[in-house]
Amino acid sequence: MDPSTFPEIPDPEIDRVFMGEALRQAVKAYDAGEVPVGAVIVRGPRVIARAWNQVELLKDATAHAEMLALTMAQESVGDWRLTDCTLYVTKEPCPMCAGAIVHCRLARVVFGAPDAKGGAAGGAMNVLQFPTLNHRSAITPGVREEECRHLLKSFFLEQRQRKDRPPLPADS
Ligand code: ZN
Repeated sequence: MDPSTFPEIPDPEIDRVFMGEALRQAVKAYDAGEVPVGAVIVRGPRVIARAWNQVELLKDATAHAEMLALTMAQESVGDWRLTDCTLYVTKEPCPMCAGAIVHCRLARVVFGAPDAKGGAAGGAMNVLQFPTLNHRSAITPGVREEECRHLLKSFFLEQRQRKDRPPLPADS
């Protein structure tokens, strides 16, 4: 199949499969104690970048899964223009990532869990389709939303429980 023409029309089944790949990345973040967000970038039928959130590991607030995946995809394509690529991410992109996505001119963004407070793909704002910017990405929201949301929910619940736990009795 010619990568430049695939997929012309989004296929919900294909979206579910690639979101599964992004979820696998999110689980890696979870296991590493990072906010569980995973992303993959697909060109034609092929995954060309896979990344998970590594803010704590790299001590870098910009090391969101999407940012790392974009860098990887640009290396793979050999160009900063990702006009025939689709990004799959388990959580709605933040304004920083959405800005980077527009700069890279991605064709489409598919996300799992929406973020009404900080999402920049229509949740709190829509940077991906901002009228005066020179590129707009198509958006497919809510793919495998429950699984994506569940992962985030259990992560933050676990973090809270850890914080609320009474201190261990001092060794005598
Ligand atoms: Zn982000």
